Amino acid sequence: MSTHVKPNIFVSACIEYESCRFDGSMIADDYVKRMKDVVNFIRVCPELSIGLGAPREAVRLVKRKGEDQKLLSSVHGYDYTEKMDTFTEKYLEKLYRRDVDGFLMKAKSPTCGVGDVKVYRDVGKAHLESARNDGMFGGAIKAKFPDHPIETERRISNYNIRENFFTHVFTMAAFRHMKDDFKYKDLVEFHAKNKYLYMSYNQEILKKMGQIVANHDKLSHDEVLDAYQKHLRKLLHGEPSQKRRVNTLQHLYGYFKDKLDTPEKEYFFDTLDDYIDHKIPYSNVLYLLRGYAVRFKEDYLLKQTVFQPFPKELTVMMDSGNKL
Ligand code: SF4
Repeated sequence: MSTHVKPNIFVSACIEYESCRFDGSMIADDYVKRMKDVVNFIRVCPELSIGLGAPREAVRLVKRKGEDQKLLSSVHGYDYTEKMDTFTEKYLEKLYRRDVDGFLMKAKSPTCGVGDVKVYRDVGKAHLESARNDGMFGGAIKAKFPDHPIETERRISNYNIRENFFTHVFTMAAFRHMKDDFKYKDLVEFHAKNKYLYMSYNQEILKKMGQIVANHDKLSHDEVLDAYQKHLRKLLHGEPSQKRRVNTLQHLYGYFKDKLDTPEKEYFFDTLDDYIDHKIPYSNVLYLLRGYAVRFKEDYLLKQTVFQPFPKELTVMMDSGNKL
């Protein structure tokens, strides 16, 4: 049973929940299925919400010469732009008050998509204007929640993207939970247990966050939390490079270097080399170090989130093999 705080994640309703796509289908997605037990999903289908049925005529984004971009039905050209605008504005206002930690959108949808949506020059058989746009609803989410992690079900089929997304939403959910009934010592504890996770992302921001927690400028609690949250988001929007991860592993190893015998030390460095040579994943080296932490009763290390930043139930090694 996971002890992680459940993040609130918005998901396009057609992924694993409702048969609301234009052809009356639902998208089965193994990762979203796994997430159901460990996150709180908030879901909606914007196209059903503006009164369209399922099945229905597909919609598309259209940019005709000299006109604003519109959301039109693909064959008959019925215009849903205004309805979608009105729905989106009202819905996102409500969503803003619900402490959402991240978004999982349907890839390529002219409504929900982000960054991979086609825009056509007209309805029917028409040329493409461009193919890397946001859907109407997806684009509005990006504008309203610029600091939140926003991914598609297609992108999280990639191992690294998925790992970063999970780490981001579960860390932010834990931070939100800590803020709810705030006592200063909770922030000190939160920072301490995330130290090596932060180190694997960005050592400079980790240092800055340490200074914020130390609060030499005697800021109010709200100011400290605001500054900390801003830096936490900045840090989590980055990616842990292999160089930073190796540095983190070497810091963790430092706790045991005087306690291990020579063959154990050699085994650690062989394992580290295997990771550097891309023969084994990062988690293998972490497992080895966690074993040492158990053996030598390093309680401070055993609390480190770097060993399990999100629930084990979500750990799946394989990529889908889809091209992104
Ligand atoms: S992509 Fe969005 S609008 Fe389209 S069916 Fe899915 S939830 Fe509905």
